Amino acid sequence: MLARMVNSLPNGLSQQITKLYFQAYSTSSSEAVGMYSKKAKGLKRRALANTAGYYPHIHKLRLLLRNQRKAHSTSEHHQFGRMDVKILPALKDNYMYLLIDKRTNQAAIVDPVEPETVLRAVCEHGVNLTTILTTHHHWDHAGGNQELAQKVPNIEVYGGDDRIGALTQKVEHNTVLNIGNMVVKCLYTPCHTSGHICYYVTTSDEANDSIVFTGDTLFLAGCGRFFEGTPEQMYTAMSIFGNLPDNTKVYCGHEYSVQNLRFANHVEPRNELIKNKLQWAIQRREDGKPTVPSTIAEEKEINPFMRVVEPGVMMHARTKDPIDTMRTIRLEKDSFQ
Ligand SMILES: [Zn+2]
Repeated sequence: MLARMVNSLPNGLSQQITKLYFQAYSTSSSEAVGMYSKKAKGLKRRALANTAGYYPHIHKLRLLLRNQRKAHSTSEHHQFGRMDVKILPALKDNYMYLLIDKRTNQAAIVDPVEPETVLRAVCEHGVNLTTILTTHHHWDHAGGNQELAQKVPNIEVYGGDDRIGALTQKVEHNTVLNIGNMVVKCLYTPCHTSGHICYYVTTSDEANDSIVFTGDTLFLAGCGRFFEGTPEQMYTAMSIFGNLPDNTKVYCGHEYSVQNLRFANHVEPRNELIKNKLQWAIQRREDGKPTVPSTIAEEKEINPFMRVVEPGVMMHARTKDPIDTMRTIRLEKDSFQ
């Protein structure tokens, strides 16, 4: 009922309501969710009566949510040879990443769903934010684009899907862009959504750093749901990641590592590396710390979706075909507790 009502509203207004709805359900505070449903009823009444007064109401609700939200992880600053990655936790389990070129001080932000958190980090580090890298159009990744683009004039917004807000540059597989001295190569990995892009970042010098931002395609020990794609497409995506250098750091879109490793352990109960990583991840989460990044080498050892050609994983799926294995274990994961 609420969804139908929201769909009939003008575009800008319905976007704001969608955003608040998502925030209310993404926050860990059950009080906020309760408050939201009360507020939502008021909104619905006003919308149906077609009266003015939505905007102060939305503003109040936004403040309420902001005050109640607590970050799911501590923010960490990772330093590499020529670039830095600042992890910015958002919503219930999302990650935004501030990527900084140390020599020029230019920066990009990956999936800035909470623009204010991003702008605080930009100020704190005194960097020049020039670019938004969007992995896919889902609200919990692209939902902050419009607001950030308004607040940072001339910012470039990259992505591979017309449904992404404030998009200025549509990219394809192997599109290359530069942020300061960093080279960003776009990897087209459709499946979770049909326009999903991952960003592979290197610096062109002896530092030999490489990083990939994988959104909701590759998670630590897992992969995203197949909302708009097929097992064949996810298999292709995993092969693309598998061809990156082994030391590439993997920064994914959500903190799902413990659940993913539990499932990986279920698929491969004899894999000691999975067990060790699970123990480590549990400890990290108890300490409130992020489990990203992993590396491509590590994913090849612990991620069942990267390992669909392994005899043990195929045996679990009761097939000898890697694509069937991909289909079967993703289906099993969908309902794994
Ligand atoms: Zn998504």
